[in-house]
Amino acid sequence: MRSPFPASTRCLLALVTVLGAASACGADETPPPAAPPAPPAPALPAPPPASTAHGIDVSALDRAARPGADFYEYANGAWLKSAHIPDDRSSTGPFVRIVEHVEQRTKAILEECAASGAAPGSPQQRIGDTYASFMDEAGIEAKGLAPLKPTLDRIGKLGDKRALAAFLGSDLRADVDALNNTNFETEHLLGLWVEQDLNDPSRAAAYLFQGGLGMPDRSYYVDPSPHMEAIRTQYLAYLTTLLKLAGMAKPEAKAKDVFELERAIATVHASRVDSEDVKKANNPWATKDFATRAPGLDWGAYFKAAGLDAQPGFIVWHPAAITGISALVQKTPIAVWKEYLVVHALNHAAPFLPKAFVDASFAFYGTTMRGTPKPRDRWKRGIDVTNAALEEAVGKIYAERHFRPEYRKDLQGMVDALVAAFGRRIDGLGWMSPDTKVKAKAKLATLKVGVAYPDVWRDDTGLDVLRGDALGNADRAELFKYKKALAKIGKPVDRGEWVMAPQTVNAVNLPVRNALNFPAAIFEPPFYDPEATPAVKLAAIGAIIGHEISHSFDDQGALFDASGKLASWWTPEDFAHFEASSAALAKQYDGYHPFPDLAVNGKQTLSENIADLAGLAVAYDAWKAGLGGAPAPVVDGLTGDQQFFLSFGQSWQAKMREPALRQRIAADGHAPPQYRALTVRNLDAWYATFDVAATDTLYLAPEARVRVW
Ligand SMILES: [Zn+2]
Repeated sequence: MRSPFPASTRCLLALVTVLGAASACGADETPPPAAPPAPPAPALPAPPPASTAHGIDVSALDRAARPGADFYEYANGAWLKSAHIPDDRSSTGPFVRIVEHVEQRTKAILEECAASGAAPGSPQQRIGDTYASFMDEAGIEAKGLAPLKPTLDRIGKLGDKRALAAFLGSDLRADVDALNNTNFETEHLLGLWVEQDLNDPSRAAAYLFQGGLGMPDRSYYVDPSPHMEAIRTQYLAYLTTLLKLAGMAKPEAKAKDVFELERAIATVHASRVDSEDVKKANNPWATKDFATRAPGLDWGAYFKAAGLDAQPGFIVWHPAAITGISALVQKTPIAVWKEYLVVHALNHAAPFLPKAFVDASFAFYGTTMRGTPKPRDRWKRGIDVTNAALEEAVGKIYAERHFRPEYRKDLQGMVDALVAAFGRRIDGLGWMSPDTKVKAKAKLATLKVGVAYPDVWRDDTGLDVLRGDALGNADRAELFKYKKALAKIGKPVDRGEWVMAPQTVNAVNLPVRNALNFPAAIFEPPFYDPEATPAVKLAAIGAIIGHEISHSFDDQGALFDASGKLASWWTPEDFAHFEASSAALAKQYDGYHPFPDLAVNGKQTLSENIADLAGLAVAYDAWKAGLGGAPAPVVDGLTGDQQFFLSFGQSWQAKMREPALRQRIAADGHAPPQYRALTVRNLDAWYATFDVAATDTLYLAPEARVRVW
């Protein structure tokens, strides 16, 4: 994915913000580390990296802190004092450490492929040439803007609104995702997502999303705060720079036009909170009705150019925005649209253009938006680019080399124990009606849990990769992905297909497929250390797995039945209780203020916070059940319960730059890590474990502790 800013991934437990999505511009993020040339062939997995201790990092604790006053500080205080955020990152912590380790391994794979001279059309050739083309800075520099010229010429020739509509349609890509790798951002005017139909589980539907912005969310355009105002000024300057670098006439005036058009688009956009509300999103529109429901854009020309003219209909995720955007196409002069398309063509291509473009892009998306001083090394961006184009081709080699098959068995056992614990929680709920419990258990029984990698790998046959054509390779990969998505519309959905690469340090719930993906790369210490005690393992990877399981049963999961149909399977009374508990949790998070002028948004982060709570509770149950009444071993002077809660607290260890933290709060569905660690406040066992008193800041009276599950 090409978006200059990392996409935010919802269901993932992880801070996609902190590591997650690829961002070729060098704005921080994404996978793995620095590396020596790798050994040939599928050498057997190296043992787990980084941490040498198998359990709690006692050197990270701040024993002077009171757990009840600030549990996050207690678990991580010594580490926080000494941790240094690398200059090319907006944060650091265990996720970043694992990401860097995975990066080193991935680099070795890519370099080997690049040097292999593999047969044209083989996975190794595609991987090697994608990477090598991006790494060829001198070649890219020498070509200047030439690779983008055909696109700029096409834009220059657009003579009327019909031609404009056709251009916009040809520019549609499958680059958004509402419920899996949650990502609502695309700088194409609209976004396409192909996924199981909310109303008919037997087929995949085409979903249309709002798009068209160069900044991550409408709030960046409309929020009156001085912080956002300052970012807008910088954004306008960045657009001007792009036009200047491309040698365009009147760059200031054009940038201003484009900015104002984007601001108008942002004004009609749905908010992030509304985007997450699936009930507002299930709007089936017949293709023939677009002209009357959203007049302005020439929809016939748009859909034809997008290859979608044969589709009888779409599910429109953002109906008001699509109506508003379509009206803007009519209202705004074509000359301004052409300026807009030029700017976005430059912005979109910037990572693959000469250094001046890369630097300008990073200065805005990396430094202004996220506070990151320095771009990531080019080879790291090369990994992002290659992963974005060929995620499973790279992932297959990664998994063969770096994931021990015996881990799959150990982890599958843990998954079974967590699913069983979740089932017992459902049985024990006093508030849930017996009928609803039967449906919940049915959903639990059909849950498809993928561990490490898919059983069947994606086939990239037909994707042409040419050495020396970095931009063309990226464009073709996006188009290839788009065509694959088109081919799925109307057909049954493959529940075994993965949406996340095995070399991604993250995890994801696929709500309409009732499935989970846990990539191989998340199974690294401290999240998964095969040598650690069960208390440590369950509180870390177990809570992550429990988090993802619970997404099938949270405020969104409750809307999808066992088949993935958008059909509420709860009684109104069940919902009322769940919503009351949820409201209490939202309020708890609204009370967290990382800065005097900024609080966590309890509603925006609610699904994730419920998942954290459920995951932790279920992991605790599964751990206790596994002990079978026997005492847990004391390690480093820590009791089993202490190990459990500290392991959880340390799994959220993170240090983040202020702008990144602010962006996270504005546009991400996850609360910042330091507050995720405070989930412990809602578990009774935590109070006894650390002698938390009623006078302590984090104390919640028993009736104020939230118990959703
Ligand atoms: Zn989640």
